[in-house]
This record gives sequence, C-alpha cells and structure tokens, in this order.
Amino acid sequence: MTPDPIKARLLDGQALAVLIQQQEIAPQVAAFVSRHGRPPGLAIVLVGENPASEVYVRNKLKSGAGVGFRADLERLPATATLQDVLALVDRLNRSPLYDGILVQSPLPKTLGADAAQRVYDSIAPEKDVDGFAPESVGRMVQNRPALVACTPSGIIELLVRERIPIAGRHAVVIGRSDIVGKPMAMLLLHRDATVTICHSKTPDLAAVCRQADILVAAVGRAGLVTKDFVKPGATVIDVGMNTLTDLAAVQRMYPDGHPRLARFREKGSLLVGDVHPEVADVAGALTPVPGGVGPLTITMLMVNTLRAAQTILSTPR
Ligand code: NAP
Repeated sequence: MTPDPIKARLLDGQALAVLIQQQEIAPQVAAFVSRHGRPPGLAIVLVGENPASEVYVRNKLKSGAGVGFRADLERLPATATLQDVLALVDRLNRSPLYDGILVQSPLPKTLGADAAQRVYDSIAPEKDVDGFAPESVGRMVQNRPALVACTPSGIIELLVRERIPIAGRHAVVIGRSDIVGKPMAMLLLHRDATVTICHSKTPDLAAVCRQADILVAAVGRAGLVTKDFVKPGATVIDVGMNTLTDLAAVQRMYPDGHPRLARFREKGSLLVGDVHPEVADVAGALTPVPGGVGPLTITMLMVNTLRAAQTILSTPR
C-alpha cells in the first residue's frame, strides 16, 4: 500500500502579518509619536475606479491606521491627466505630513504606456515606500540600505521567520516583473541562494522548476504550477492573485464537494493563486491564497513607511 501523500505545511502569512504589525510596528510607532509629536504619515494615491485597487487601498489604509499612522487617501478621477498625477505627487513630496507616498497600480490606460514609470520616477526617493523608483531599485541591487519592494521583502521575511534555509539553496522565480520577479530574485541572491529566473519564453518550465528548493510563482495564471513543477519537500511561495469568474476554471482547481467550489457558487468569483492546490501533496511548505503573501506585502509597506519616517526626521535639513 502506498502511504498517504505528505500535506505541505501551510505558511500562514496572515498570522505573521498580525504579529509583526501589532507586536513590532505599533510599539515603534507609539515611540515615534512620543519622540516627534506626530505619527508617521502615509499618502496613497488612487486614480480612477478599479474595483480590485479599491480593495487593496482600503486594506492598506486600514492597516496603516491600525499601527498608528496617519494614513490618507488622495483620489483622482479616471479623467485625470498624467500632469494631474505628477502635480499631486509633487505636492505630497513637499508635504511635511507624509513620509511615504504610494501610487496604486495599475494606473488607467488612458494615461499612457509609460505613465507608471514616470510617476514612480517622480516620487521623492526618501518617500518611495513601494521601492519602485530608480534610486530605491539601484540601492537594492547593490545590497545597500533601501526601501525595498514590499512583496519580495515580505516573502524574505516569511522564509526567515519560518526558518526556511535560503543560503546555498536553489531558488527558482517564475516571473520577471520589476515589482515582484526581479527584486525577488535579487533578494534571494543577496541571501546566497543560487537563483534561476523563468518567464514566458522559458522552455520546459516544469523541468526548471523541479530543480527548486524554493519556488516562487509570480505570474498571474491560475493554477499554472502543478505537481510536476515541484520537487518533493520544496517550499512553494504563491504570489499570484487571480480572480476566477468561470466555473470551469474553478473546477480545474478544486474537485466537486470542495468548500472553495461552494464559495465560488455563493459569490460568483474566487481569488486563487498561481499554484494548483494539488501541489500541497508534494511541497514541504506552501503559502495559501488568500492569507499568504498578500498580508505580508501590506506589512512591509508599514515597515517601509516607519523606516522612511525615521530616516526623514533624523536627516538634518
Ligand atoms: P506581470 O508584470 O504581469 O508579470 C508576470 C510575469 O510572468 C512576466 O515576467 C511573464 O513573462 C511571466 N509569465 C506569464 N505567463 C507565463 C507562463 N505561461 N510561463 C512562465 N512565465 C510566465 O505580473 P506581476 O505584477 O509580477 O504579478 C504577478 C502576479 O502576482 C499577479 O497575479 C499579481 O496579481 C500578483 N501580485 C500579488 C501581490 C501580493 O501581494 N500577493 C503583489 C503583486 C503582484 P514575460 O516577462 O516573458 O512576459
């Protein structure tokens, strides 16, 4: 008789996020307030009315308020021009109320293909809490102190706190975006992993991924990573956030009778990752979606904002 498959240990990003926010960041914010007479300030710019962005922004504002920040939303209508966005960022750059500025992506397509980069370029480097601006990226690549992109730094935080060894291990990152894949690979490299980056042109993706001790999927394709991508016992980090609205797509991930299928029928949509649930039978550890990487991304935004505030107030003007 074959033994039952090992079920991967679930890496609970939500629980870790609550712990870091409540037990580590909030007391430091309280100390900051008593020292400087004001809280760290975070300004979030939201352009247009993207429903997913509304949810992300609401969660970021809620977490910001929860740790004791001043966290404000600056809205611009979908009809705003790139000049309007740049003017708002300029005002926030000069405001003494805000230590961190985040412009929620995606920006409306009407602003042009290079709008996001032009906006990131315009954020004052010391307030770049998303870590997307060129100075932040350059410092991060050189492994110097920097405001580092929140999703990859949250993943490192999770791996370290879960005592998953990185040094000397083979890490494979699927995805090469500027906000997740590339910085993820660089942070793993800085921690002495041997790193492979895969993308849409990588031949025999599954075979490359099967070499990974740590596999990070940052693609945006529901259930792309199946069992045959995963070496037994590997750690699998699922960054993907895909909203399924099609029953057949949900059924490809969950068998009849699965509670998540029932949830889909109730809500008409379901948030799933890039990793197929069957991977839990092979992996040693796995982040769930939701409740894995997402909450840590927000937590690292809080960490960056506090760090930015401390740096700004300790730098002579
Ligand atoms: P992105 O900019 O669209 O990049 C996706 C990457 O995946 C690209 O490098 C692309 O390759 C690669 N790719 C696409 N199809 C592929 C395939 N079939 N095989 C191998 N590689 C493939 O996306 P992103 O901004 O990095 O985000 C990735 C996912 O993470 C999305 O689902 C997003 O919603 C999610 N996300 C989650 C969080 C969080 O906090 N949990 C934060 C950010 C993003 P090419 O470069 O060759 O096109």
